[in-house]
Parts: sequence; C-alpha cells; structure tokens
Amino acid sequence: MIPAISAVIPSPSAEAALDMTWETHRRFQHGAFSKPCPTCRVQPGEWCRARRSVCPARRELHRQDQAATMLVPLLVGRAR
Ligand SMILES: [Zn+2]
Repeated sequence: MIPAISAVIPSPSAEAALDMTWETHRRFQHGAFSKPCPTCRVQPGEWCRARRSVCPARRELHRQDQAATMLVPLLVGRAR
C-alpha cells in the first residue's frame, strides 16, 4: 500500500494536495470512485463513509475491472 503523502511529507500543503486529489477523483469518477462501494453501499462518485480513504473492496473491484480491460486491445475495449 502506498503511504499517504501527509505521512511522508507532513505539511498543510501536502494535506491540501491529498484532499484535492481525492476530490478530483470523486468528482470525475476516476479510479475506485468509478465503482459503487461494496462495503459502504455508496454509488460511483460518492465518498466512502471513511472519508479520505477508499474501502479496500472498492479498490479491488476497480483493479479487477482495470485488469480485464487491459487484456483487451484499446479500440476493442472502447467498443464494448
Ligand atoms: Zn466504502
């Protein structure tokens, strides 16, 4: 697991950067935010109940989907 930037570089700006990154991912439904959370039962684009983090099950769901997509050539993947 990647440590939070705030654990590596403790500073208010690192905290703000982390918050902004999560917010951007949530708003545009990137990464794990593109999936509903099996743990919290929240919809894609919504925060997990443990804000500032994403539940491991949701992250895993995204990883599985990404792995399946990466096996298919890009253009075929888009046609689905
Ligand atoms: Zn969750």
